[in-house]
Amino acid sequence: MLVVSHGMHARPAARVFGHVRRAGVVLRENVVEATGLSQATVSRTITELTGAGLIRTRPDMGRVGAVGRPSVPVQLEGNGHGVIGVHLGRLLTTVCVADLRGRVLERSEHRTPYSLDDAVALIRSAADDLRSCDPDRVIVSAGVVAPWSSLRLPSEDVGRRLGEALGVRVLPADHITAAAAAEHAMDGQGFAGMTAYIYARDTIGFAIAERHGDQTTVTRTGLLTHFPAGSSAPCRCRSVGCLEATASDQAIAQRAEAEGLIDQPDVRRLYESSEAGSTRATEILRERARVLGRAVAFVRDMLDCDRVVLVGQGFTSYEPARRQVIEAFEQATSLSPLDVTFGRYGADLQAVAASAVALVPFDEDPLGLVRRARKGAVEFSSR
Ligand SMILES: [Zn+2]
Repeated sequence: MLVVSHGMHARPAARVFGHVRRAGVVLRENVVEATGLSQATVSRTITELTGAGLIRTRPDMGRVGAVGRPSVPVQLEGNGHGVIGVHLGRLLTTVCVADLRGRVLERSEHRTPYSLDDAVALIRSAADDLRSCDPDRVIVSAGVVAPWSSLRLPSEDVGRRLGEALGVRVLPADHITAAAAAEHAMDGQGFAGMTAYIYARDTIGFAIAERHGDQTTVTRTGLLTHFPAGSSAPCRCRSVGCLEATASDQAIAQRAEAEGLIDQPDVRRLYESSEAGSTRATEILRERARVLGRAVAFVRDMLDCDRVVLVGQGFTSYEPARRQVIEAFEQATSLSPLDVTFGRYGADLQAVAASAVALVPFDEDPLGLVRRARKGAVEFSSR
């Protein structure tokens, strides 16, 4: 589970920093209003956050024509600090450096190695390469996300080993929970009720974002790996017709390769083939979309959630089939009509999701994080 917003329970520094991060350029009085903290506390906290290099004042953007002492706006300091995000996928591993807004600055993609030792070595060297592009940026924390159960890896151990290799605290999280947290962060914290984020790429599953009082949590609730999709595709569980074996990126790419439509099992080749006019490639992609749409209806009917957001390249990368997903959902759902939307991230989702996890500790103690990272950076560079 990820707590993505602590609301009133968080420290003042976390509340002020969180609001400034989301709001862009913001006046102090708006920070007071949004956080519910006193003017004195907000002023003192802004001074501390500015001193730590986490936010900066923008006197050039002061309110023109305001009566009395002009209010000096503040905004997030985009340079200076950053986080490392790692997505350890079943097939591909993505490593990135992001700023404190969660914007991915540099990233690289690699084949996932077979052993954990090799994976740690690969991630360390990829992170060193990315850090060398901007050596003055102090890395404050890192996040590692993965489909842990299908990799058969203990998330806490991987987090600890990567922490030793990277020299910062590494927070591990499930990759679907992380994708939901990244989307939810952009949707705004104010949304009430329950949102189901359904994810499809090489794995298929869902996570739920829910508000409890003024705290928002994202929970990974289920994998749809062996959900019966009604096809004849053989699954690694020795049954037939399981959802991932029918509709994952890997499954449809392998099917297209076996039919001779593409020369290697890469789903991007299948998109290209469809765009180049192959009717069979288009049919495979539309059929996959219908299978996913029916699974979306099942999840929605089971949860009776208030909103559904579809995330992951299996839903977002091939725009012409979005209509088939929605039509199949509408035909299959038994409950009243519901708006189903697509997530905002495409090919960068894994990097953005891992960075969102790396940023979670900022919701607890941003000043402590920076203090420890600067101390660690000195020790790290002198060893
Ligand atoms: Zn199965």
